[in-house]
Amino acid sequence: MKAKVGFLGLGIMGGAMAANILRAGYPLMVHNRTAAKSEPLAEMGAGVASDPRHLAQATEIIIAMLTGPEALDACLWGPEGAAAAFNEKKTFINMSSVSPRYTREMAARLALTGAAFIDAPVSGTKKPAQEGSLVILAGGPREKIQELEPLLLTMGKKVIYCGGVGQGSMMKMFINLLLGIMMAGFAECLNFGRLGGLDFEAMLDTVASGAMNAPMFQVKAANLREQSYPAAFPFKHLSKDAKFVVDTAYESGAPVPLGQMLLHLYRLGVARGWGDEDISAIAKVMEHLSGK
Ligand code: NAP
Repeated sequence: MKAKVGFLGLGIMGGAMAANILRAGYPLMVHNRTAAKSEPLAEMGAGVASDPRHLAQATEIIIAMLTGPEALDACLWGPEGAAAAFNEKKTFINMSSVSPRYTREMAARLALTGAAFIDAPVSGTKKPAQEGSLVILAGGPREKIQELEPLLLTMGKKVIYCGGVGQGSMMKMFINLLLGIMMAGFAECLNFGRLGGLDFEAMLDTVASGAMNAPMFQVKAANLREQSYPAAFPFKHLSKDAKFVVDTAYESGAPVPLGQMLLHLYRLGVARGWGDEDISAIAKVMEHLSGK
């Protein structure tokens, strides 16, 4: 008998991840602040809870895939928050991207309820979420993560054990720092080449033909070619993560000059009104800075 799963947050990622849990045969209940986003899951057979507390009361394993700390605070400790229904029979898995510090503080607070807790953010975007091929970055007690692995593998192709609680979030910040640097670097280089008179397709061919190629470049090139940036990973979320990177680095003493620059560039894009577009819209920041 599979555990009853509750899923909080049916955005770009959560909607697809919840659907895969359901397809794998878990009894599923969902809740989303904007109720309409629950409808496709309800049509697939999921139950719909009116608020996070009812969701937590009716299920054993509660998963959150929310924007960040503000959304988690609201869903856990706000009016009708889930944490009031937590006890030693419940498990909470946070898959949202937050800082390691926030995760450790959340763990300390949740420990008072008796519920088990792991942090399990993901590497991969909309398509891997739909295909169930995310890479899951898990932090917390190793035996608990092993116990939860069959459920996690309904959403991902792999679970990487990152260490104690908070280290899944640390690994997520690590990989998103690399993602942000690669994406900004790609956009900067293409803009540099464009203003130097190079052909876009010839630049892509040069990247694809050498050791610098990366699958992400080929995926995001389509957006840059069409100058259309439908959100797979929203710009505003990478801006949020860049702030977590910079804060985390400040605490550990790690120099992150490129991370600082990333925060500046992504904030600029959000300020220009591009926060709901894809991270590849960093190309627009480069064009904006060049004034052409
Ligand atoms: P999204 O589409 O913007 O969805 C955000 C979710 O959080 C929605 O369900 C939203 O509810 C909910 N939410 C936001 N503020 C809330 C509040 N105050 N109270 C209650 N619910 C609230 O984001 P996403 O792309 O799925 O990303 C979710 C998380 O995964 C983020 O932490 C992101 O950084 C991370 N992530 C994203 C990607 C990606 O490629 N998209 C990849 C890896 C990790 P409403 O529907 O009501 O707005």
